[in-house]
Amino acid sequence: MAIQRNAPPVDVNQRRIMGGTEADVIQLYPMKHKFAWEYYNTANANHWLPTEISMQLDIEQWKSPTALSADERRAFETVLGFFTTADSIAANNIVMGFYKHVSSPEVRMYLLRQAYEEAIHTHAYQYIVESLGLNQAKIFNMYREIDSIYNKEEFILGFNEGIFDGDFKMDTFENKQKFLENWCVFSLILEGIFFYSSFAVMLGFQRQHKLTGSAEQIQYIMRDESMHLNFGVEVINTIKEENPELWTNDFARKIIELVKKAVVLEYTFAKEVFPTGIFGMNADGFKQYIEYIADRRLQRVGLTPQYNVQNPFPWMSEAIDLSKEKNFFETRVIEYQVGGQLNW
Ligand code: FE
Repeated sequence: MAIQRNAPPVDVNQRRIMGGTEADVIQLYPMKHKFAWEYYNTANANHWLPTEISMQLDIEQWKSPTALSADERRAFETVLGFFTTADSIAANNIVMGFYKHVSSPEVRMYLLRQAYEEAIHTHAYQYIVESLGLNQAKIFNMYREIDSIYNKEEFILGFNEGIFDGDFKMDTFENKQKFLENWCVFSLILEGIFFYSSFAVMLGFQRQHKLTGSAEQIQYIMRDESMHLNFGVEVINTIKEENPELWTNDFARKIIELVKKAVVLEYTFAKEVFPTGIFGMNADGFKQYIEYIADRRLQRVGLTPQYNVQNPFPWMSEAIDLSKEKNFFETRVIEYQVGGQLNW
């Protein structure tokens, strides 16, 4: 990129999330996508590290022959098997897919923070695996050995094809649509659906006072992921506004079909992890919960809900709304929060 000498300041009204001018990319001000800057600041205020959370109780329970059932151990390990590789997939997509093709520097600022958070999440899983002395090779290789994890990750990775290529450019209608489709898949499906039965299981452990250190790690991850999803929704809706021609009826139908396919993949995974149910959650409950959240994701980007079911796990919504739980922060060793900005 060559700097255009003596060119006038960027016209903020010309700024676009995708397909903007090259000069835009390094001029943070004037800002157009102010939501991204707010997300960047809120994320910094919510900073945390896995090693701040005590794993002592988890270590004792994992060693104890009676604290956990065989089904609970299997469910815990399988959920970790999904988690350990999923955040690396998310990180790669941000760095090698989104970042390069985004032409709004304020959106790029949050993407840099988001990429770091994905690294913190992978660190959290590594820390859990190491603390409990789990079989590292087994857990980190589950995506290649367990069908339901493989199917979810294979589905997601398919949407990187083309976009990760060095010569992919945002100069055709098809490529712009492909990029928007990638964003819908990563935000609405990977971050918005594929994590949620695993989140529910981990909070199930917490509700039984089991493996609470691991569950607390996951609560922090849920808070971050919920921001990633909300940010993704803002990005998708802004791209729609800036490029209304991309959101054709066919495109909208395609996104709905992808979400429906993802719902099946997700509840198939939940069924495989808990064939006999766990903590009062059975296969039907998971199916309905996933359908419920899928409808919420569709609505956020202006698409028609497909299932219209009640939330069978209302406690999940409460748990996600962590800003209301004051006690949650009392377990923290280090307090990064300085600006009183826990609302998101
Ligand atoms: Fe994420």
